[in-house]
Amino acid sequence: MGKVDVVVIGAGAAGLTAAALLAKEGRSVSVVEASPWLGGRGMAVPEEGFRLNLGGHLLEDSGGGLTKVFEYLGRKLGHGASNSDMVVWDHEHDRWGSIRDRYSGEKSELKKVIKVLLDTPYEELDRLDDQPMRAWLSKYTSDQGVFDLFEFIAVLECMTDDWWDHSASDNLICRKMHYEEAGRAAYSFWPEGGWDGLFQELHDAVIENGGQVLMGTPVETVIIENGEVKGVRLGREKVLPNEILEGEVLEADCVISTLPVWNVLRVVPESLLPDWYSAQIRFLAADHLRISWLGLYMATKEPVHINSEHELATWLHAPTSRISGFFFNQTAMDPTTSPAGTNLYVCGGMIPGSKARDMQYVQRMFEAFEADLKVMYPGLEGTYWRRRHLVHDPSFGVIQKPGLVGMFRPHWRAPNIDGLYFASETFRSRGIGVDRAAKAGLTVVEDYLGRRLDGGFGWHY
Ligand SMILES: Cc1cc2nc3c(=O)[nH]c(=O)nc-3n(C[C@H](O)[C@H](O)[C@H](O)COP(=O)(O)OP(=O)(O)OC[C@H]3O[C@@H](n4cnc5c(N)ncnc54)[C@H](O)[C@@H]3O)c2cc1C
Repeated sequence: MGKVDVVVIGAGAAGLTAAALLAKEGRSVSVVEASPWLGGRGMAVPEEGFRLNLGGHLLEDSGGGLTKVFEYLGRKLGHGASNSDMVVWDHEHDRWGSIRDRYSGEKSELKKVIKVLLDTPYEELDRLDDQPMRAWLSKYTSDQGVFDLFEFIAVLECMTDDWWDHSASDNLICRKMHYEEAGRAAYSFWPEGGWDGLFQELHDAVIENGGQVLMGTPVETVIIENGEVKGVRLGREKVLPNEILEGEVLEADCVISTLPVWNVLRVVPESLLPDWYSAQIRFLAADHLRISWLGLYMATKEPVHINSEHELATWLHAPTSRISGFFFNQTAMDPTTSPAGTNLYVCGGMIPGSKARDMQYVQRMFEAFEADLKVMYPGLEGTYWRRRHLVHDPSFGVIQKPGLVGMFRPHWRAPNIDGLYFASETFRSRGIGVDRAAKAGLTVVEDYLGRRLDGGFGWHY
């Protein structure tokens, strides 16, 4: 099949970002993707007139991440609709309220903490991987409203099931980025042109700069000889599930895997990695450390919002299931994602990753969760179309608790193996979701090239 400088495994946010940057820097690059769809966990697929996203709901790039990557590639990532309002379910009084009422705290205390955060260098926050966020906040304030605000955003962004158990480094780095780059605590938006449009742009940037993207082509294994990467062996759909393929080899001196911790060892030979490193991967792949939730797409003819159609509604405890979650109108973000005259709602409720394989539990929780939603939104009685989905395999990511982030994640450079890199938001990286994955791609490209790219990117390592 010939030889390229770099093979990238996976055409999700990390893989397409890495490949597009490498192609722009003049490297020959092939992206190899198992699925027929671009986008990986961010893919968007058509279904009965709706466009459903596997992952991407809203993009959390406050400006210095994927937006700058697009600029560097000579493209534009339009920031479409943003959530202009946040309503919060008051579980003590069973009614909706505003985030401002719920987390009122002392304004001067909040300002003081924001100033300290802005004055603290990223490098210092980077060292707080084993600290809870509250330990850091407590050094500067005792105001419950400030704790609540920071912790509430962390639940929402990272889908942490325990509101009190957030890493200081990951969460404070995100807050600092958002305050610095977007001037507010949390900023997210719908990508103009939709999620499929976003990934298509990155794909086109690879092709225009001479790269190739092989879709529907799984990598069977990474080939490593004498501690050096030699390329990848390509697979195809297996006739017998236990078939051993003898597929073609795509040669390269560098392979960038974007596979998450829970499936990377199916493709990268574990025996060639140091024990401590593969143990780190296996540890993070455990069910109880995955961010897991019950997902629902629901369509109504009449809108059901509380204040405004662009609101993001959230709660820490739904009325009976007691799970935390979120709810928003995707049609309001992008009317092309549902048939005219309909409103497509997206929502989720967190469950412990340790229980997500118990289908009886999952079904029971869906029943309770859907009943809760009708209490919170009586208009949902008029739901005429819906799809349930379970977020666990793949998961949103590894939960961002103290001791599970930053230096506790496997490094992006494989130890002992020249030319093997891991660009994944489940490996060492910072940020949220798709933007974090793109930043992981950027980090690996810079390491491979041996220099920083001059794109005005925000802090990423
Ligand atoms: C339900 C859900 C909701 C989410 N919501 C949001 C959100 O609102 N906002 C946000 O920013 N993020 C969100 N995320 C997280 C976000 O989707 C991920 O962080 C991001 O897409 C990860 O990108 P990645 O490139 O690191 O990995 P992936 O997208 O997982 O890419 C890995 C790619 O590798 C491919 N692959 C696997 N095995 C092979 C093989 N053997 N050979 C070749 N290719 C292979 C896969 O098909 C995939 O395309 C959500 C995730 C989920 C699951």
